[in-house]
Amino acid sequence: MRIDLHTHSSASDGTESPAEVMAAAARSGLDVVALTDHDTTSGWDEAAAAAVDVGVALMRGTEVSARLHGISVHLLAYLQDPTHPELMVELERTRSARERRGRLIVDLLAADYPLTWDDVLAQTAPNTVVGRPHIADALVAAGFLPDRSAAFAGVLSSHAKYYVPYYAPSAIDAVRAVRAAGGVPVFAHPGAEVRGRIVPDEAFDELADAGLAGIEIDHRDHTLAERARLHAIAARLGLLVTGSSDYHGAGKENLLGENLTAPDVLVAIEEQGALEVVRA
Ligand code: AMP
Ligand code: ZN
Ligand code: FE
Ligand code: FE
Repeated sequence: MRIDLHTHSSASDGTESPAEVMAAAARSGLDVVALTDHDTTSGWDEAAAAAVDVGVALMRGTEVSARLHGISVHLLAYLQDPTHPELMVELERTRSARERRGRLIVDLLAADYPLTWDDVLAQTAPNTVVGRPHIADALVAAGFLPDRSAAFAGVLSSHAKYYVPYYAPSAIDAVRAVRAAGGVPVFAHPGAEVRGRIVPDEAFDELADAGLAGIEIDHRDHTLAERARLHAIAARLGLLVTGSSDYHGAGKENLLGENLTAPDVLVAIEEQGALEVVRA
């Protein structure tokens, strides 16, 4: 069984539609794929219909933006009730914060790279959760930069003078909200030093107390030493361990299935979740 539990579509910052991600997952020989767009579930229905068509099983999920001790972190939520009010309100709040923040970044950039918010929107599908990758696409379309990665290495880096953070809930509250909605919370790439500061060991204790179910360990942004540290934490706290690609279509080098999750972990997630995996 080939199981990849973290991908993005054009519902957020992936370059392919949800249906295209399902087709790509089938072509890559995956048996199960999770669609986990940033702060939204808007791609789920299209993905579910396509998953049945192409014969791949779909884990419905969301990558939830959060903060922990001043550090920006991501939580993967799986199989949650998408209509649960508490989580719905929290995600809506984050999405509007993302839009305000995107506009601010464009305003700052415009001094050196003339660009408008409409140029950014021109790079998005309807209803997209907007992020820095779409601003990168607008910079590329205007001929300022060759690709997204060049943008993230320079003007869109969190160290650049154009950087603006955005509101996101505390990770403790987010874990509780995901559980309240019947979802299964997994800490996404917690040791990805390329993204910025990483959280200390003690943070996992707090999150586990709040209801954290697992840790995404096999991820290309984790060094071997980091994976070893995270395995020790998962064993100590009795947390599930996942692996995944964090596929973004052509927007990033990550390839579907480059990291995988064990079948018994899939079973455990499905047992804990309010929804079922969509199977053909
Ligand atoms: P934001 O969520 O708006 O702060 O933007 C950060 C997101 O951009 C992360 O979730 C990354 O996965 C995504 N991203 C997409 N393409 C790239 C890239 N080429 N380099 C770095 N991050 C990227
Ligand atoms: Zn992303
Ligand atoms: Fe992430
Ligand atoms: Fe991601």
